[in-house]
Amino acid sequence: MTTIGLTGGIGSGKSTVSQILAELGAFVIDADKVGHEIYLPGKEAWHQLTIAFGRDILAPDETIDRKKLGALVFGSDDARKKLNGIVHPLMFQDIDRRIKAKRAEGFTKPIVVEAAILIEANWLPLADEVWLVVTNKNAVIDRVATQRGMAAKDTEARIASQLSDNERRKYAQVVIENDGSLEELRQAIGTAWSRVAL
Ligand code: ATP
Repeated sequence: MTTIGLTGGIGSGKSTVSQILAELGAFVIDADKVGHEIYLPGKEAWHQLTIAFGRDILAPDETIDRKKLGALVFGSDDARKKLNGIVHPLMFQDIDRRIKAKRAEGFTKPIVVEAAILIEANWLPLADEVWLVVTNKNAVIDRVATQRGMAAKDTEARIASQLSDNERRKYAQVVIENDGSLEELRQAIGTAWSRVAL
């Protein structure tokens, strides 16, 4: 029973790989979705964040206003560390709970934790192995521009702010090079899957 930590930079193809793995029979946990859920009013993260940053981060309906929170931590390493120090461990716990619940149901195929910040957030203990999606910078810029209309300079700035692929490779057991077609990606995933799918 394998749990795969699936990571990679912006626009590298993590969601695409997750989708292919789900079609092959994996259970996928999307860390972004978990992040959104733990922010909901009444949840532990909501309580801790309102204590740490004040009720000014709340919208009129009591939900956390991500723009206000983002503005508070923008440009402040200390504030960002405080935010991550609250949110990352709570996300870890929540993902861990979901993995255990799925296994308790008797699910034995691979579980995939898709997380851009798997390494940075210290979530490696969640996974038995790390799969890294790597795509050359020009392809990422093109794909993100086509899909989200994001300007090349913004994509480049995001890439520069993230961990480098060279750094990520140190933690990866499987590296998926996603420079080719979607069909080539499917084939590469199929090969990697056949080793772990039981
Ligand atoms: P982010 O972390 O920024 O959300 P991501 O790593 O999840 O991104 P995807 O959303 O899977 O990346 O891929 C980015 C875009 O590139 C999508 O539009 C996707 O359809 C496209 N894409 C991914 N792989 C390929 C490929 N091999 N050929 C063509 N397009 C691709």
